[in-house]
Amino acid sequence: ILARGRDVCKQNGLLILSVLSVIVGCLLGFFLRTRRLSQQEISYFQFPGELLMRMLKMMILPLVISSLMSGLASLDPKTSSRLGILTVAYYLWTTFMAVVVGIFMVSVIHPGSAAQKETAEQSGKPVMSSADYRTKTTPVVKSPKVAPEEAPPRRILIYGVQEENGSRVQNFALDLTPPPEIIYKSEPGTSDGMNVLGIVFFSATMGIMLGRMGDSGAPLVSFCQCLNESVMKIVAVAVWYFPFGIVFLIAGKILEMDDPRAVGKKLGFYSITVVCGLVLHGLFILPLLYFLITKKNPIVFIRGILQALLIALATSSSSATLPITFKCLLENNHIDRRIARFVLPVGATINMDGTALYEAVAAIFIAQVNNYELDFGQIITISITATAASIGAAGIPQAGLVTMVIVLTSVGLPTDDITLIIAVDWALDRFRTMINVLGDALAAGIMAHICRKDFARDTGTEKLLPRET
Ligand code: ASP
Repeated sequence: ILARGRDVCKQNGLLILSVLSVIVGCLLGFFLRTRRLSQQEISYFQFPGELLMRMLKMMILPLVISSLMSGLASLDPKTSSRLGILTVAYYLWTTFMAVVVGIFMVSVIHPGSAAQKETAEQSGKPVMSSADYRTKTTPVVKSPKVAPEEAPPRRILIYGVQEENGSRVQNFALDLTPPPEIIYKSEPGTSDGMNVLGIVFFSATMGIMLGRMGDSGAPLVSFCQCLNESVMKIVAVAVWYFPFGIVFLIAGKILEMDDPRAVGKKLGFYSITVVCGLVLHGLFILPLLYFLITKKNPIVFIRGILQALLIALATSSSSATLPITFKCLLENNHIDRRIARFVLPVGATINMDGTALYEAVAAIFIAQVNNYELDFGQIITISITATAASIGAAGIPQAGLVTMVIVLTSVGLPTDDITLIIAVDWALDRFRTMINVLGDALAAGIMAHICRKDFARDTGTEKLLPRET
């Protein structure tokens, strides 16, 4: 038995350490809350976790560029367009399904009637507007609420680009083609100002063009493959730091949170609704879809990506988790790297089932709290805008809270009521990020199955470049 135990630990050492680190992080966080640490002490305590986030973020840019360029360049145009269309169609479909699950759960549980609305007007307590929240300024006592239609144009930040209400379509197009100075510009008040959508679009276009250039494009493709491999080598070393970082990341967040009892009373049912929806979508619907399409065991697949799911839980960022998702899919689930190189970066940018589900639940919850009856047309509007808002959200912590403005304004709900759900958002964000990552990984498994014949046929430039296996 001892020998078997040793084998299991050897094979799954990192995974076991990561699970333990989540548990230790929670225990340590709750224990230290009783010690009433000062803000200064908390920030020192959070430092190892901050380092983990930095390490992951450092790898996103080279990883996304190199994987998309080399991935698409090594496919023939027919294969890449088939993979592209199938992937995007699958992403849209599953995101819409997630929204439907969210609407179903929030209608059945009806958390709004359990919640007591405590606005600034009623309690006199200072509240944070969503804009204050993003810039992390001191909360202000709000003057009487401005009706949504009279509200001044709200500046929101998606992918690091400031935009005004009413010009989202133009700004979406502008985001696709960013000038170089905003590709990686850190915006004040955001954890990450990277324009991932622009980077994905640029790299995918370059990859397709490189593929068409044949032999003359091979040196650049080879460069990208080297870059990709070297980033993955950094990941292989950095993962040993992660369990340590996770402890401090989780404990540090628990130290910062509001009193769990007070929050639980007000937002307990809302949180349960979101979590039940995420569990239903992530642990039943998506795995069932995977099973029906591939006829393979989804539990084995999910086991292979557990490490990535834990990193998603710890970091609340699907972009930051991307390097680990790659590692798990290639090493544990043996997904063709050309598929992973396309499906994962695109998924981390546009496919957020967890976020879409949460946006639908949150919007309907706010309507319920305000006693606002939504008609069928408005429910449809919410489902479409929640899908769009999740596509527009960047894969960074609490981006979904920002894009919620789109959903609320589409049906005339008060955007200031986002403040109602802020207290639990940091925790729900972790769970929805796990489902976002799970959705991308399962999509890669499904695409690998659907396109297996194309890929067996299409060796493309992979043949030219003997480094790749
Ligand atoms: N944190 C999520 C992610 O990175 C986005 C969100 O829903 O806020 O996938």
